[in-house]
Amino acid sequence: MPLSHLTHLECSICGERHEADVLQTICTACGRALVARYDLTSAARTFSRESLAGRPWNMWRYAEVMPGDVSSPTTLGEGMTPLLSTPRLGAHAGVPDLWVKDEGGNPTGSFKARGLSAAISRARELGVTDLGVPTAGNAGSAAAAYASRAGIRAHVAMPDDTPSTIMAEVQAYGAELTLVKGTISDAGTYIAQRAAEEGWFVLATLKEPYRVEGKKTMGYELWEQFGDLGDGLPDVVVYPTGGGTGLIGMWKAFDELEAMGLIGSERPRMIAVQAEGCAPIVRAFDLRLDRAEPWEDAQTLAPGIRVPAPFADDL
Ligand SMILES: *Cc1c(COP(=O)(O)O)cnc(C)c1O
Repeated sequence: MPLSHLTHLECSICGERHEADVLQTICTACGRALVARYDLTSAARTFSRESLAGRPWNMWRYAEVMPGDVSSPTTLGEGMTPLLSTPRLGAHAGVPDLWVKDEGGNPTGSFKARGLSAAISRARELGVTDLGVPTAGNAGSAAAAYASRAGIRAHVAMPDDTPSTIMAEVQAYGAELTLVKGTISDAGTYIAQRAAEEGWFVLATLKEPYRVEGKKTMGYELWEQFGDLGDGLPDVVVYPTGGGTGLIGMWKAFDELEAMGLIGSERPRMIAVQAEGCAPIVRAFDLRLDRAEPWEDAQTLAPGIRVPAPFADDL
């Protein structure tokens, strides 16, 4: 397998450069999200549709553009989920060529597996022993599973009305579970405080640079899978948006693919879908605001997207 071509971290807002070989959270200059940068010119020498063909059937196949020691990641086989043609659903929705990328087949049942595989791999490499994760639910399951796999202690906080199956799963994987009143925002406050007291490393969405590196592999897979169908990228990507990691990650993947000369400048239209009872990004978009106001009294049947105040709203 080729090596990672990770070079440094960069602030997504102010552009400040940060070391990639030490633990990092947010930009020390401006407090916003850091993103990983790669030497894409040298990555492009070995990264191609053909060279990918013989590689492992998980997201670490994109080794050149993944962080850290890509030859021994903390993996449970995440990624390479099926891309399903859905003609009956498409006819019902009035979309003639509708495809579903079924992320439910990931370890712990959601695409949170991708982000946590990447983040926990990197945390383990950089010496973390205890990590804190505020979650609306699914990131807690994934964090507990991957931390267990890595031999790291996980401390997970989630709303007390999260589905009980998720709570059971987190505990079954051996993580410490704390229930809080309110939403993921309140879980975030709790974890930040406990982490400061006890020295945990916090993996909150986009307050840590590598979860997005895992989630971006959805973009690489869309490129690889639609490419195999001879179609290029899809015209439109519709994504259920909470913290925004997946949407931001796929966009980053397309930029990296372009920089490696593998696609042109065209992009799918990216549509962030939120629940009517918790839609801070949709509201900010409609009002043409750069930042999103926190959503009051967030409620939805879809716990995974109940994120009233996403940290990286501007991205
Ligand atoms: C976390 C989650 C989302 C939102 O993902 P982001 O990338 O954080 O926006 C959507 N659906 C499900 C099922 C989730 O678990």
